[in-house]
Amino acid sequence: MRKLTEEAFVTMGVCSRCKKPFGITVDRVDSRHNQYVFVWAFKVNAEQAHREGYDTKSVHGSVVLDDEYPGCPYCEEKRFYTCGKCGSIVCWYGEREVVCPKCGTSGLVTEVESIDLKGGEF
Ligand SMILES: [Zn+2]
Ligand SMILES: [Zn+2]
Repeated sequence: MRKLTEEAFVTMGVCSRCKKPFGITVDRVDSRHNQYVFVWAFKVNAEQAHREGYDTKSVHGSVVLDDEYPGCPYCEEKRFYTCGKCGSIVCWYGEREVVCPKCGTSGLVTEVESIDLKGGEF
């Protein structure tokens, strides 16, 4: 597993198959270009996530996946989209139209260069 910098944090994802939350360890790649890397993903429950403060921090940037990033801990999908309404990171299987498992918003998936990530100190 890649060595994390002091700027690493955890953001929250939701599996679109089982609707369970998971944590994603995110690290910053290049502070000037606001690029982030998804390093790891792990199962977490909602209360724990809230207690750890995984929903308090917000950053904006583009995301790449680390070579060892395992994907969603439930369905193992590595692709994802971010819900335009609640900002959740949700497993994505390539469909054009999606329904967010967290807030129920439906919409079309669009390619974006930068996304907003919410998370807490690691
Ligand atoms: Zn999943
Ligand atoms: Zn949502």
